Amino acid sequence: MTIRFLLFDLDETLYPRDAGVMQEIGQQIRRYIVREYGTTWEEADSLARRYHREYGTSMRGLLLNNDLDVERYLAFVHDLPLGLLQPNHALDALLAELPDEKVIFTNADRPHAERVLGQLGIRRHFDRIIDVVAVGYIPKPNLAAYTACLHLLGAQPAECVLIEDTGRNLAPAKQLGMTTVLVDGDPADPADYKIPTILELGPVVERIFRRQGDRVTG
Ligand SMILES: [Mg+2]
Repeated sequence: MTIRFLLFDLDETLYPRDAGVMQEIGQQIRRYIVREYGTTWEEADSLARRYHREYGTSMRGLLLNNDLDVERYLAFVHDLPLGLLQPNHALDALLAELPDEKVIFTNADRPHAERVLGQLGIRRHFDRIIDVVAVGYIPKPNLAAYTACLHLLGAQPAECVLIEDTGRNLAPAKQLGMTTVLVDGDPADPADYKIPTILELGPVVERIFRRQGDRVTG
């Protein structure tokens, strides 16, 4: 089967972890819980951590257990300055060289994805953004997120490469039969390919296609 789709996680995959965006989203999540549910900061922190661990994201835990107004939540937690993200010309050039359809597959919402891609100057490369809303508010690493994504694309797992910074989000993709690329992740996490930054993706994609060619001819 031929690779047709390169699926990119957004946050901390397309820009480095030290940009601080996810840390700020984490703070916003805690502010939201304190405000909406009247908890202390410490309670909000432990709830957010527990839900993230058990459900994939804090959003999913709040949605299932705490009567969450999910659209308001997503707008609130992603309402933050992205000034630290600058246009990345090297990434823009790299994406222009890559074959196949490039798709964003993110646990965030579309407005956040649009803003991040805009800041990085790489919006033009992505035909589709599959956000957590599009997959029924079920985040990675829940298997249903991946099957919903595949359904939206009309794709088989073997036609997809998933590129992610979070190892636990790669495991279900691998289980389904996608090719996996870990970007700046925990070295202990399994993946077909591991790269220190997204800018190293070019040679990996070449190898994936070469291996695929071998399989077709051999
Ligand atoms: Mg990420």
